[in-house]
Amino acid sequence: KKKVFSGAQPSGMLTIGNYIGAIKNFVALQDDYDCTYCIVNQHAITVPQDPKELKERTRGLAALYIACGVDPEKSTIFVQSEVPAHAQAAWIVQCNTYIGELERMTQFKDKSTKQDAVSAGLLTYPPLMVADIILYDADLVPVGEDQKQHLELTRDFVQRFNNRYEGDLIMPEPLIPEAGGRIMSLQDPTSKMSKSDQNKKGFISMLDDPSIIRKKIKSAKTDSSGVIEYDKENKPGISNLLTIFANFSGKSIQELEAEFADSGYGHFKEKLADAVVSVLEPIQERYYKLMESGELDAILDEGAQRANAYANSTLNRIETAIGLQR
Ligand code: ATP
Ligand code: MG
Repeated sequence: KKKVFSGAQPSGMLTIGNYIGAIKNFVALQDDYDCTYCIVNQHAITVPQDPKELKERTRGLAALYIACGVDPEKSTIFVQSEVPAHAQAAWIVQCNTYIGELERMTQFKDKSTKQDAVSAGLLTYPPLMVADIILYDADLVPVGEDQKQHLELTRDFVQRFNNRYEGDLIMPEPLIPEAGGRIMSLQDPTSKMSKSDQNKKGFISMLDDPSIIRKKIKSAKTDSSGVIEYDKENKPGISNLLTIFANFSGKSIQELEAEFADSGYGHFKEKLADAVVSVLEPIQERYYKLMESGELDAILDEGAQRANAYANSTLNRIETAIGLQR
């Protein structure tokens, strides 16, 4: 079987952007691939985190993966900091990556302008991500569009490493949804929806109460034309809502345009909220049950054990290739 690796940061609770862009594919790939899904808590500390919240969100994110449909019987689920090989491999990746490459990354440029003090880790975030991916010999990496550039860096690294050291690292491919690879903020439809957004009205969390979801959708920024049609350039707000609607209803954007041809934004938003709530309610129910059960720790212990075994053997291959041995 071909292999899949991906992860999300416990930098907040998953948003519907993360769900549409990545988690839906985590679930879809489970039957045909050997899947490993990580809670990347070491990535989260590239920006300041409150220790207590970070810990709670780490467990919560694991529960949310499962509540969304990631099946621990089929996929390995683990916490990044419980597998030391990630940080070890990241060092080796850093030593084979150039500062200029890292400074060109748009995520670094975006996130560094939002910080008062920029940590070195924010710059070296992509090498840690490269390490995550290569350690599991991943063929396919389901991610949102914002991670495309980091996947390109990963591919460049793999090629460089294999040439320089006669290595045998696997060349990974990104898997990005065609419609929904980049869900936009509800408050600013020209910037990406992010779970770490200071303005909570910009995103819908997978754990938001139905009443909050309805309120956030109602106050989503649109335009004054009142026509429900997909036009990303001129009507980014309504186009974003159409993309979200399509992903939560299984209908195509064209079908939705036809269905709401004679409707106003108010009615459209109400129906969109119904669709989102009907998908999120059962996920939330499963989430709260899991958080109360003792199952979660057993799943993560077993996941860490499996991940450590695999990652250590790859790390050994890498260290052998570059001569990090006596
Ligand atoms: P942060 O703001 O802390 O970076 P985030 O919302 O970007 O949080 P990540 O944990 O960085 O979430 O990303 C998890 C996955 O979700 C990645 O595959 C990423 O590409 C994807 N993703 C993030 N935001 C979106 C979005 N707005 N639309 C689609 N996919 C997204
Ligand atoms: Mg992100």
